[in-house]
Amino acid sequence: MSLRGGHLLFPTKQSPNCKEIASGKKQERPRNDIYLIKIIYVLFLFSLTACNAPIQPTPVEATSTFTIPTFTQTFTPTLEPTFTPIPPSPTTTPIPCNPLITDYCISNWNFLFQRPIFPPDNDSIDISYPYASTQNGRRDPHHGVEFQNEFGTPVYATGDGEVVFADTDKVTLFSQWSNFYGNLVVIKHENDFYTLYAHLSAILIKVGDVVNTGDLIGQVGQTGGATGSHLHFEVRQGGDMYDRFSTQNPELFFIPKNGTGALSITLNTPYERNYEFSLVITRFSDGFVMYVSSYTRGFEANPEDAVLNNLPVGDYKIAFNDQTGLNERIVRIEDGKLTEVVFENVK
Ligand SMILES: [Zn+2]
Repeated sequence: MSLRGGHLLFPTKQSPNCKEIASGKKQERPRNDIYLIKIIYVLFLFSLTACNAPIQPTPVEATSTFTIPTFTQTFTPTLEPTFTPIPPSPTTTPIPCNPLITDYCISNWNFLFQRPIFPPDNDSIDISYPYASTQNGRRDPHHGVEFQNEFGTPVYATGDGEVVFADTDKVTLFSQWSNFYGNLVVIKHENDFYTLYAHLSAILIKVGDVVNTGDLIGQVGQTGGATGSHLHFEVRQGGDMYDRFSTQNPELFFIPKNGTGALSITLNTPYERNYEFSLVITRFSDGFVMYVSSYTRGFEANPEDAVLNNLPVGDYKIAFNDQTGLNERIVRIEDGKLTEVVFENVK
């Protein structure tokens, strides 16, 4: 946009009357009429003066001087916020999550143990033969979990405690069979928890030794009834260390790795069952699918029927079939926590 608008220029025209007068047109002068000449002369002078007035202004271009407005915002609060602190009620108690009336519960579970195998060796359990599984009747009910590793892999104490057994089980039985566990180490922990390390190729501690979490105690082997090189690991609690019916699912006690949590699934049946449910667990983020069998008969004392540890945080779907059809539940896994799910009236 131009600021040089014509209307901003002052007019330069001279008055036509002044031009005529200034041109000095000759007039007849009466002889000897001095008086008249004087009058004319005075008038002439007057007209010249009149032509000079008003003084013509010099045409100038208007200079626009815009002052950029400055905005200074000042907020004036109309209402003064008032905070009225609510004192905590001393009678308020947290409402415990009830897995019977909610899809699932997430709790700060007291995970007790580190894993007995360290990376880069395999520190994940063999999901094809989990705790309390028979592999659909092909094997004996499993009282522990397997860490598949090659012969000689280091085995470490999963918690602080005292070594209470370090020998073969040929004479002292920890199951219904002699020499079932082979070279075996048992550590006693707080609250009468026992951890068992079986099929070892080498035992590197002795009874009475006090061990700390992560101490080297032996090496993976295939002694006893092992069909291949692996570590069989058990957690026992509630009986003495020889009581094979006091076993718990180790997956319920391993401290989850960063970014993972644990999942406990309970299937309440109205009658005693003699079969395992095949649970299909799908991770939504990448579609990864896990197949886990529930506990078999004889493990009714355990409150849950399947546990998976080290599940990356996220949402999962649990699905399984019973006699009435398909059952499904969507659950969430949170970092370092235990998600508990209960299916009622499973048939
Ligand atoms: Zn085993």
